[in-house]
Amino acid sequence: MFISRNWGLELWLQFLLLAVLNFTCSPGFVQLSNEYINDIKADEAAEQANGEYNYDQQGNDWQGTCQDGLQQSPIELIYSKANVTSISRIRFYNYDQPLQSPLVLTNNGHTANMVLPPTRNGQRAYINGGLLPGSFEAQSVHFHWGSPNSKGSEHTINYERYDVEMHIVHKNTRYADKTVGEASMFADGLAVLGVMFKAVPRLSSQHTGLVRIFNQLPLITEYQSSTMVNGRLTAGQLLGNIITGRFYSYNGSLTTPDCAESVTWTVFQDVVELPRRQIMKLWNLQDSRRYPLINTYRDIQDTNGRPVYYRNLQ
Ligand SMILES: [Zn+2]
Repeated sequence: MFISRNWGLELWLQFLLLAVLNFTCSPGFVQLSNEYINDIKADEAAEQANGEYNYDQQGNDWQGTCQDGLQQSPIELIYSKANVTSISRIRFYNYDQPLQSPLVLTNNGHTANMVLPPTRNGQRAYINGGLLPGSFEAQSVHFHWGSPNSKGSEHTINYERYDVEMHIVHKNTRYADKTVGEASMFADGLAVLGVMFKAVPRLSSQHTGLVRIFNQLPLITEYQSSTMVNGRLTAGQLLGNIITGRFYSYNGSLTTPDCAESVTWTVFQDVVELPRRQIMKLWNLQDSRRYPLINTYRDIQDTNGRPVYYRNLQ
């Protein structure tokens, strides 16, 4: 299913909601829960609340905390400068459980974004361990990318920038009654998992979930267009089959306005390989000005003496 920007996400969601209410018995019709639709609306509202911004100057023109903050992201992740310590691994819960409904994939003018519904057992996928100050539930997923002649990850690892960086945004369970935006006002509000993607000539291993998502990208080239990713994905499928035992972790911020300093970052060292022809699909997205949505990464920020930790165990 696809709808153009003329109709808009809001109306499309209204339509889906009505369709769900009216046709719940009709076989084959995809059902999205009210809860999921409300989460998508809240995510969109939070996105709008941060006003217009773009990547024309890689974020150097963004104001407020983006300009004044001392714990900003992304940063360079460098093995020789990291505190290599024995920290526990990241523990994943319900990451192997199918999500309750198909995912809605949206071009919000800054990225390709998917709000994650709970899993079929009613619980959300969540994580703890590592340096995380609590348990954090998976809320949404989006990507940062480059262009035909530049790479677009936000963090760099040992001075290397990767083609794409995926962010899985999680919210601390102690703020269960708050939105992601509200939780971002607390230092321990959010946890983001960063996963690097590398473009390869051809697929070495099948990443069914990711390929399904990337195959839908041509349907959301226009600003505010949405589509569905059919099939019941698991949150775990987003990770390809990376080794999650090796990662960098530090305290930082959101990498888009308002750059709230509320994020415990975990960036995995292992990289997902995706065919270049899949990654190319990101470069065709357009922003609200109908300009190509490319190089959607923020410049590297000062660490300002913040410790960066590295876990070096499988
Ligand atoms: Zn991001």
